[in-house]
Amino acid sequence: MAINEFEAQSFHWLVDMLESVEVGLVVLDLEFRVQAWNGFMENHSGITASKIRDRVLFEVFPDIPEAWLTRKVDAATLLNTRAFTSWEQRPYLFRFRNTRPITGTEDYMFQNLTISPLSGVTGQVEKICLMVYDVTDIATGKRALERANELLAKLSMTDRLTGLLNRGTWENLVDAEFERYRRYTQATSLVMFDIDFFKKVNDSYGHLAGDEVIKHTATTAKGILRQSDSIGRYGGEEFGIILPETDAEGARIICERLRENIDNSVVETSAAPIRYTVSVGISQLSDTAKSYMEWMQQADEALYAAKKGGRNRVIIFE
Ligand code: GH3
Ligand code: MG
Ligand code: MG
Repeated sequence: MAINEFEAQSFHWLVDMLESVEVGLVVLDLEFRVQAWNGFMENHSGITASKIRDRVLFEVFPDIPEAWLTRKVDAATLLNTRAFTSWEQRPYLFRFRNTRPITGTEDYMFQNLTISPLSGVTGQVEKICLMVYDVTDIATGKRALERANELLAKLSMTDRLTGLLNRGTWENLVDAEFERYRRYTQATSLVMFDIDFFKKVNDSYGHLAGDEVIKHTATTAKGILRQSDSIGRYGGEEFGIILPETDAEGARIICERLRENIDNSVVETSAAPIRYTVSVGISQLSDTAKSYMEWMQQADEALYAAKKGGRNRVIIFE
């Protein structure tokens, strides 16, 4: 075999390989005109190499962020060095449909991208090679994991029955609010409230109906509170609310609304329509509370006074 024939043959299978490799290969000239477009790109874009040859990439794919890619390419050309970008920075360069059956949760193919300058015989950069890697499987896995972690974190912070913050999370917030007050000393109030005669609800209508009443309490309170207020389920049928930037009188207005709202509503449980009331204790934070626990204690004392005073009422700690 003559040497030229040998070279021609190796060139042939080399091109064959580049054609069929599972990576997108695109060669561009410095004006972003397509010079090469391999089988991977043909398959996923539906555009053949002969169709796209010599066309400006941004005209064929108007979705491609031109300024961004130009900046990346310029840097790679100038420094004559490769640049790499991952799907985490930009999910994809070419908007290709995700064709993998197992990772059907994502609509588009996630891509990593390598930008390589190609030098001519003189050493000058003449062309740019884009390598497009399909990383949908990796990205989908990582995204699913992130979503699962978020869900777990949320679940471990909230109460299952009501969706409110659970006791531990809520107490941490009380602690944080107490510390904040120390620094800023603006008004802030704490509320503890408890369903009246709840044992009777359970005894008369069953535990499930009781649960529905607890849920109703949570929904009603959430409907009344502001975004910045934090409500938690403190115990079985006992709840706590932090009202930042609210003095005792402001808290009384909010709590009266809550008390009245509940007093006037009927919960249509599966067992029977149920009417119920709540008792509420308020403590505006002052220097008399030496710790967040003492602050909670004060609100609890006010709640106890509301119970003793006949229930279905709001009492402020003095
Ligand atoms: P008071 O007016 O003094 O608050 O009377 P009460 O009957 O509400 O008394 P207490 O607060 O001691 O009773 C709480 C009851 O709540 C006891 C418990 O069986 C019930 N309970 C606690 N957690 C749950 C729950 O998640 N679901 C239901 N259905 N009942 C619960
Ligand atoms: Mg109770
Ligand atoms: Mg109770």
